Amino acid sequence: MERKSIDKEKLNEFLTATVGKENFSMDPVMLLTFATDASRFEKTPDVVVRPSSTEQISKIVRYCYENEIPVIPAGARTGCSGGIIAVYGGILLDLTGMNHVLELDVDNLQVCVEPGIVNDKLNEFLKPHGFLVPGPASSYAATIGGMVGNDSSGKEAVNYGTTGAYVLKMEVVLPDGRITTVGSNALKTASGLNLVGLFTGSEGVLGVFTKIWLRLIPLPETEGIAMALFDELENAGKAVINTFKAGIIPGCVEILDKSSIYAINQYKPEMQLPDVEAMLLYEVEGSSFEIEPKINRIAEICKDSGAIEVKKATEKAEIDRLWEARSLVGAASVRVREGYSRVYAGEDLAVPISKIPEMLTFLREASQRYDFPIVTFGHVGDGNLHPAITIRKEVAEDWPKLEALIEEINQKALELGGTVTGEHGIGIARARYMKREHGEVALDIMKAIKWALDPKNIMNPGKMALNEDPEVILNKIPVKTI
Ligand SMILES: Cc1cc2nc3c(=O)[nH]c(=O)nc-3n(C[C@H](O)[C@H](O)[C@H](O)COP(=O)(O)OP(=O)(O)OC[C@H]3O[C@@H](n4cnc5c(N)ncnc54)[C@H](O)[C@@H]3O)c2cc1C
Repeated sequence: MERKSIDKEKLNEFLTATVGKENFSMDPVMLLTFATDASRFEKTPDVVVRPSSTEQISKIVRYCYENEIPVIPAGARTGCSGGIIAVYGGILLDLTGMNHVLELDVDNLQVCVEPGIVNDKLNEFLKPHGFLVPGPASSYAATIGGMVGNDSSGKEAVNYGTTGAYVLKMEVVLPDGRITTVGSNALKTASGLNLVGLFTGSEGVLGVFTKIWLRLIPLPETEGIAMALFDELENAGKAVINTFKAGIIPGCVEILDKSSIYAINQYKPEMQLPDVEAMLLYEVEGSSFEIEPKINRIAEICKDSGAIEVKKATEKAEIDRLWEARSLVGAASVRVREGYSRVYAGEDLAVPISKIPEMLTFLREASQRYDFPIVTFGHVGDGNLHPAITIRKEVAEDWPKLEALIEEINQKALELGGTVTGEHGIGIARARYMKREHGEVALDIMKAIKWALDPKNIMNPGKMALNEDPEVILNKIPVKTI
């Protein structure tokens, strides 16, 4: 797709009048720092703008609409799929400055925030009031706008659902600059088409969220943990399913398979984790009287399902000790083999939970076949696995091998009835699977929605295979080799 060249002088004048000289930059060095996220892609925008109000964003988007300039909404840029990569250049809207709590309405269990507020900062604010907004593992950096953009979720999604489950209402600047509000302050609504649902997970391709009303979750009084070791993968899978069948919804259930256990023992030998096929970590949250019976019941279920050892903890120090293995796995995964480092690719599949053992076995076999260390961990309670693939980034032949491996992993996830992304989104990284995962008709529906809202294709173009051939995009976007 050809793009008109940008009249930078005219744009400079417009932005100076709209946001002030100090709130935008065309300096190539500055632009470089906005060229990438946690994905393997990078490309600089033409301008980075830091707006501070809905009105400014509306004016900027209107200008872009009239002049056919791409606009890319960006939060903290921790996304793993290249969602903020400026495929065709254009204006990157850095929304991190719009980071205020606008209204806390405890009586109605909701808070209204600007999109750039960081999840943990919001939770610091909410804690004294006894509430939280659950988030991803990157909650220390991820913004609420980015979380809604990707419909992110963390390990607690099995209990609370994904970010979309808390979004009540949103103010959105549409691709032609109009401002609209969708959703309701009521905690539920059955009115009209679900536009909140449409914008949630839209990865910046349908508009810019400028205000977000979120439902508050009460802070749990206390928590407990059960850790179960299995010498057969299938038994770990059975334990998870049997837990649900027993009517228990845990706060989270995480899996560390053999590859993760090996990586953690390499990284921190004093952990001395036993060399088993899988470790399950259950977290249970709630009031103090219900935690112990639930943990005991989970322990029983794990034993009945074939666990060779189960440990329980309801005291903070012991909980932290048991949880340490899970918290180390991300760091451990990048140090498994000298000279190999992690690439965020093929890292977010989800399959029906009964298929987890088959998927894990496949990943182990693929790791050996490609001779790339893969450390797999994930949120087994909702079937979401994170295979951390490591390659030698400076070795040219590792890149095509990586592409072939990702293809196999994602294809296997689809064959098992799963998805290529449980939480990280499509962006550029997974655009080539859109048709395969959704089918032609469903993808056509998505394209028609994009077309209806954004006929000039200015809003975060090049993503999700909505207008362009994803292979062409992938071929023209450089990958980072460091
Ligand atoms: C170490 C690490 C751990 C991670 N763990 C998790 C995890 O547990 N779960 C998970 O889901 N993800 C995880 N992620 C991925 C990422 O952190 C999340 O997707 C996060 O929510 C992105 O937030 P962000 O502010 O960085 O968004 P960005 O990366 O800046 O943007 C993400 C997408 O949202 C769009 N967007 C951003 N703001 C707006 C807005 N205001 N209006 C419209 N569109 C917008 C962007 O265009 C882009 O497409 C992890 C990433 C890293 C690096």
